[in-house]
Amino acid sequence: MNQVGVKTILFHGPSGCGKDTQVEFLVDDYGFLNIGTGDMIRKLFEEGDKDAIEAMGYTSQGKFVPNEIIYNKMFPKWLDRFDSSKSWALVSVVREVGQIGFLDALLEEKGRKLDLFIHFTLSTETAVERVSVRKYCPSCGMTFHPKFKPESVEGICDKCGTELIQRDDDKPEKIKERLREYNRTIKPILKEYQKRGILIEVDASPSIQDIHKEIIKILGL
Ligand SMILES: [Zn+2]
Repeated sequence: MNQVGVKTILFHGPSGCGKDTQVEFLVDDYGFLNIGTGDMIRKLFEEGDKDAIEAMGYTSQGKFVPNEIIYNKMFPKWLDRFDSSKSWALVSVVREVGQIGFLDALLEEKGRKLDLFIHFTLSTETAVERVSVRKYCPSCGMTFHPKFKPESVEGICDKCGTELIQRDDDKPEKIKERLREYNRTIKPILKEYQKRGILIEVDASPSIQDIHKEIIKILGL
């Protein structure tokens, strides 16, 4: 069980739904810790962790990293770095239905349980509109958007000063293809969390501020 007032929330949604921005608000204003597997692989890889090196071998080929590597080897040691007395925002850590059981077991081991799964939904049109103008930092992984999250100096990463690029992944055809695949794989996951009564779907098309207000209301903050 979670301690009183401490939350464990899973956030997920297709590329371009703005989940990272929403989670950043929770980190800045409400002391949440942002926990994601992308960061985990990148940071552990930099530290020379052998499991992360193995995982990077898969991601560099555009393949899913096997659950055993992510959930049994890397995630337990990664979670040890996060203050367990704080609220946790887990971001996109369940990407296919087979990972649900792994996450359940892992949270239980850490003395927590999932309070809510907040899922952001996005139409194809909105996804293309948002994602196709996005810029990405090849060095630290930060994403910028001219409307929602512009960089301070055009074309340069705010965080690390690296020149920003557009990813091939962010071209319209790729976005549509990815969203179709996303919607297919997310269905059984949504079904499972709905069955548990902890699924909340949030329409990601309103403004960042409006979505933020809705999330604050949902979380009772
Ligand atoms: Zn950067």
